[in-house]
Amino acid sequence: MITQPPGDRSIVLVSGDIESTVALHIDRKVAALALFMDDGSPRSVAAQVMAGEQADALGIEFLSIDVADLVKSTRGNFNGGIAVTVGAGVAIARDVSVVTFGARIGPTWSKAERPHLDGAWVQSLNSAIHVGTGHLVKLKAPLAWRTMVEVIKIGKELGVDFEKTLSCRDAKTCGTCPGCLERDAAMAKA
Ligand SMILES: [Zn+2]
Repeated sequence: MITQPPGDRSIVLVSGDIESTVALHIDRKVAALALFMDDGSPRSVAAQVMAGEQADALGIEFLSIDVADLVKSTRGNFNGGIAVTVGAGVAIARDVSVVTFGARIGPTWSKAERPHLDGAWVQSLNSAIHVGTGHLVKLKAPLAWRTMVEVIKIGKELGVDFEKTLSCRDAKTCGTCPGCLERDAAMAKA
């Protein structure tokens, strides 16, 4: 039962990647919590340390939630949705009215690979969360429709330490996967 109206602060979903780190910096004055979904993978272990350090540097509380069983059971098919809905639950618990999802939306990734990087997906999840929480929580996607170069430029303006971000699928930057290649190309242009 929800009895207390939430404030206008945000729960920022962080994954240690560039986008969610920039989103955390955008929300630095209103963020109540940086929320990390730990799926137990080596990448998750490494990214969690970076995301925690980013939150510490901004003086924002960091919380990691173990979603390993959930991600394993769903075979990674709805990770974005799991993160957003868990974030909405935490938002309600903490009287916070916004979940900030720092994903870009655009043509870079195929729909099969990243179904959540789609405008309809974000709008649908926003509707589900808003209605499902009794109109108390909304989804915010500050980097929707931005290119990677634009995201990095915003991050530079906000003083983001990109050394403490991870774009790779692995625990260490491999330099050859799509995430690493996109990062390198965008860094060179930004
Ligand atoms: Zn890589």
